[in-house]
Amino acid sequence: TTDAPPAEDISADDIFIAVKTTKKFHRSRLDLLLHTWISRNMRQTYIFTDGEDEELKKKIGSHAINTNCSAAHSRQALSCKMAVEYDKFIESGKKWFCHVDDDNYVNMKTLVKLLSNYPHTQDMYIGKPSLDRPIEATERLGDNKMRPVNFWFATGGAGLCVSRGLALKMSPWASGGHFMNTAEKIRLPDDCTIGYIIESVLGVPLTRSSLFHSHLENLQQVSKSEVHKQITLSYGMFENKRNIINMKGAFSVEEDPSRFKSVHCLLYPDTPWCPPQLSV
Ligand code: UDP
Ligand code: MN
Repeated sequence: TTDAPPAEDISADDIFIAVKTTKKFHRSRLDLLLHTWISRNMRQTYIFTDGEDEELKKKIGSHAINTNCSAAHSRQALSCKMAVEYDKFIESGKKWFCHVDDDNYVNMKTLVKLLSNYPHTQDMYIGKPSLDRPIEATERLGDNKMRPVNFWFATGGAGLCVSRGLALKMSPWASGGHFMNTAEKIRLPDDCTIGYIIESVLGVPLTRSSLFHSHLENLQQVSKSEVHKQITLSYGMFENKRNIINMKGAFSVEEDPSRFKSVHCLLYPDTPWCPPQLSV
């Protein structure tokens, strides 16, 4: 192949991965992530939740962050968490901010490879748009004035990344309490607010990657032979049917409904709980 050399030699330690969760999902969703991809990326991963959990603290210590945001699924509660994620990233000094949901699998190796293509000092916003056209929103300008705005945004449920260079420019609209005020100005969820700040306010375009996946798309289209190349995966339900990636793996769908354990054994076959590899 004619792969260009990396723009910057980064390692996993240069990436800050924020996982958004809520107390009621600690056992049902987060434990699966801790058991699989997070177990290989403890130093890079920070969990943003809304309640105390001694069991979680035992597993990941100070990387379990209680945002003290409301546990409701409201726009305000979700923006409150994103605001804390942003502030913690800035404080961390790391080169890249990546956000995922608690139903995402992160393949760190391919994530490092993707981000190595760009200098972290450059303005970069990377992810998968959730719509096939820009979102149409209304910006509240104060004095009862309104203005229509159109912008693309990366869906939070597929994961998204922002370079440090760009994150620093977002500060007037994102740091401290500003993120929540900005979210209220357009009355849209946290991931849309990120898109608004970056595309609409700062004029930096979203860089699309088809290697990020949410359960809003048909995950059957991701096959076993392509799992290695993907950056994020997800799982969910659609019209009462499982929406999961299409792979026969180490575990059956009954044992591993998300497929994340099977994915993990494919990527890290030396994991002690993975079935032994049959040599041919
Ligand atoms: N979430 C949250 N608070 C809630 C409900 C959900 O922080 O009250 C988080 C959840 O942990 C996940 C994300 O928001 O990381 C998206 O939630 P979910 O997957 O349930 O919904 P979706 O929007 O994907 O349908
Ligand atoms: Mn989800």
